[in-house]
Amino acid sequence: MDIIEQRTNEEARKRRKKPAPRPHTVLIKEQYCKGCSICVNVCPTGVLVIEETSKSVFGLIAKIEEPDYCIGCMLCELHCPDFAIVVDPEKRGGTE
Ligand code: SF4
Ligand code: SF4
Repeated sequence: MDIIEQRTNEEARKRRKKPAPRPHTVLIKEQYCKGCSICVNVCPTGVLVIEETSKSVFGLIAKIEEPDYCIGCMLCELHCPDFAIVVDPEKRGGTE
């Protein structure tokens, strides 16, 4: 992982202040995620990080590191260019 991804993750972790009162659920559809880090950068509460993987074309993938911090703002889902992340899938029929 290069310095850009390391800094992306450091900045995300700094945004964690306290767990959400009623955490929401986030699902990453790994088969669609290309590891662009957009969701990591837009998440206001540092739920997501980027990590290395052998599964994706670019060798990176988004990971849910702190699910208890998700406030359900939808920014990750709305910004993902590949429709690879779904917020509250069990309520919205997005599990597949
Ligand atoms: S924005 Fe989408 S494609 Fe990019 S890392 Fe996040 S889930 Fe993956
Ligand atoms: S819904 Fe909001 S708080 Fe939850 S992971 Fe996505 S961007 Fe972060």
